[in-house]
Amino acid sequence: MTAASAGLAPYAAHETAGKGRRIEETPPAYRGEYQRDRDRIIHSTAFRRLVYKTQVFVNHEGDLYRTRLTHSLEVAQIARTAARALRINEPLVEAISLAHDLGHTPFGHAGQDALNACMRDFGGFEHNLQSLRVVDELEEKYADFSGLNLTFETREGILKHCSLRNARELGDIGRRFLERRQPGLEAQLVNIADAIAYNNHDVDDGYRAGLLDVELLRQEPLFGEHYRHVQEAYPGLDDRKLIYEVIRRMIGHVVGDLIATSSRNIQALGPESIEDVRAAPEPVIAFSEDVLEQHLSLKQFLRDNLYRHPQVRAMNEETQQLLEDLFAQYMTDPEQMGEAFSKQAESVAEPVRARVVADYIAGMTDRFAYAEHKRLN
Ligand code: MG
Repeated sequence: MTAASAGLAPYAAHETAGKGRRIEETPPAYRGEYQRDRDRIIHSTAFRRLVYKTQVFVNHEGDLYRTRLTHSLEVAQIARTAARALRINEPLVEAISLAHDLGHTPFGHAGQDALNACMRDFGGFEHNLQSLRVVDELEEKYADFSGLNLTFETREGILKHCSLRNARELGDIGRRFLERRQPGLEAQLVNIADAIAYNNHDVDDGYRAGLLDVELLRQEPLFGEHYRHVQEAYPGLDDRKLIYEVIRRMIGHVVGDLIATSSRNIQALGPESIEDVRAAPEPVIAFSEDVLEQHLSLKQFLRDNLYRHPQVRAMNEETQQLLEDLFAQYMTDPEQMGEAFSKQAESVAEPVRARVVADYIAGMTDRFAYAEHKRLN
């Protein structure tokens, strides 16, 4: 057993059993392979851009709202805690968490929907697939290869969904979608940690923005239960602290449930390796039925009351229009893009040009997209 895998359960991702990098490299001297992945992600350009990309609220709406960067850090925090408890690979979990949103467009889901609509005739746009494109191809930092040349296991975790049409074109990394196999536990965990993070921080951000009604929120089973507990324990606590206290308890509650339920699932399945995990009929990392129901109910609540709030919708419509304008402008006049991109879009077929334009737009921060729109109009 190497130092990097000491203390890990047999069903965790072990570097010695990993499927390696696309281009072979000398092993790192002082770090494990997954630590090296994480470090490459932190040094990437796409990672630094996350600070100016919208989660729900556009950056200029306020300094304290989550951005894609702070969201990614919160996902990593939640996933690392659970990874330790389950004795699975913490550096791998951290690498996947920090990379999972690298392919996100500016302006959150509204941006992704707009770009997908623009790309309808050219193969569409999926942000998960784009995250993989960023680490596999678009980052230009290394002399020996394009992209970051990450390990198979990190790439497997980044690609959490994928259409079957795209999966067929992706080779080994897309195969599990065609064969209906599972990814490793580290990938499964980050997927759920992502959902835990946004459900909770969106309650906080939505409340901060004055868009969520606490009386309505209290009717949500998960929020209501912890709200009652906090009120009983601290009568007269001011609202701001009360909401924080409820949120930290909600996170503790669902993470505790996730660890306990997943441990039971692991015991029932008895996997002896990551391959046993991949061959299981369904994901092993999961909530209990009760908590899953509460989690989904809160998610639906946020959809109805926050993501579809008239104020959020108005901003979404504005930014969607902006991305549609940019897409149309770069398609007609590719020279308006940065040099590397305009060169790639020169005298190529329309679908190829569309992909270059989509890559260029997806890489933008919110404020760069605004500035470009202003410059071109
Ligand atoms: Mg996310």
